[in-house]
Amino acid sequence: MNILVTGGAGYIGSHTCIALLQAGHSVIIADNLSNSKSETVMKVMDIAEKEVTFYEIDVTNAEAVDIIFKNYKIDGVIHFAGLKAVGESVEKPLEYYHNNIVSTVVLTKACHKYGVNRFVFSSSATVYGENNVPFFETMDLLPTTNPYGETKAMSERILTDITRSNPIFSLSILRYFNPVGAHESGLIGEAPNGIPNNLMPYVTQVAKGKLEKLRVFGNDYPTIDGTGIRDYIHVMDLAEGHVAALENLTEGVHVYNLGTGKGTSVLELVKAFEIANDIKVSYEIVDRRAGDIASYYADTSKAKNELGWTAKRDIVAMCRDAWRFEKNYKDFVESK
Ligand code: NAD
Ligand code: UDP
Repeated sequence: MNILVTGGAGYIGSHTCIALLQAGHSVIIADNLSNSKSETVMKVMDIAEKEVTFYEIDVTNAEAVDIIFKNYKIDGVIHFAGLKAVGESVEKPLEYYHNNIVSTVVLTKACHKYGVNRFVFSSSATVYGENNVPFFETMDLLPTTNPYGETKAMSERILTDITRSNPIFSLSILRYFNPVGAHESGLIGEAPNGIPNNLMPYVTQVAKGKLEKLRVFGNDYPTIDGTGIRDYIHVMDLAEGHVAALENLTEGVHVYNLGTGKGTSVLELVKAFEIANDIKVSYEIVDRRAGDIASYYADTSKAKNELGWTAKRDIVAMCRDAWRFEKNYKDFVESK
């Protein structure tokens, strides 16, 4: 299939392009490089040893999107493009609503115009809010407390309405848990701007000596060791989940959790990282971070039963691959 991958130069998108190419699909990337670099597209081609077509466009721009649909017979769209920083979304809600909602509307309009009926959407476990764990796809969505999360919940609703109005539209909504790690080559991985907000990139930068010590946000949660529990998933498992979702797509709306189903605490992750890489990670316990919940992880049985997909890589592989990328990585972060 010819797959249009929006946000394909980004973290999850680039890994998914590799998985798509390796599964025999052709890839057209549309990315405005607002949070990525064009070199990543070159690295994707190097790793997969296949060509991809790259359009540097903003997918909120309907004319620019139309050109791609006019030039290629697109069989399906995977829509990753979006802004994703929770804190920034509180400061700049309009940018988030504009970028994340308009992009979804523009793309689905183009799909309608050109008769493209396969659509895979990047959603997030954040839409579950403070439901009880584990999270099941059938749960009601709860408020997310930030505009970023609301853009995901709203996009899910918009896409679901479109699917109801068009019986042959085939939609897969993928709710990611905590993607971490990097491609096994160490050539591509997660390269956040500035000081990382997320745990794994913070840990790798402490290990590298770029940051002094990890601040563990709270050790008084009702969890195994008092620190927060999340369902970390290797980004290549996540990437392969997209291929499975695309290849098994049927008419109607299908929602899947993509996680491992296993919770890992902050201190367990730090320990796993130290053992996997034989390196020390200094940390201190500080106050809880505002807005954090104690624990969440996925029920993954639906993806297993319907897509035949399960995550294969464990927390040790996630830590090892994240570190390999961080060690290799010179220009990207340092040049910003
Ligand atoms: P990322 O920032 O690395 O990738 C997003 C890509 O989209 C970037 O390359 C950026 O340049 C591009 N982009 C943004 N707005 C665009 C626009 N209007 N037009 C064209 N390109 C645009 O982020 P990621 O971690 O790879 O996330 C991909 C998707 O998955 C996002 O929608 C994100 O919300 C979602 N998601 C991510 C996580 C996570 O923890 N990383 C968790 C749940 C969901
Ligand atoms: N965390 C931490 N220190 C950090 C970053 C994160 O202790 O510098 C904790 C955070 O409180 C949470 C877990 O690590 O319990 C995962 O946080 P992350 O921001 O990576 O993911 P999210 O909270 O969005 O699921």
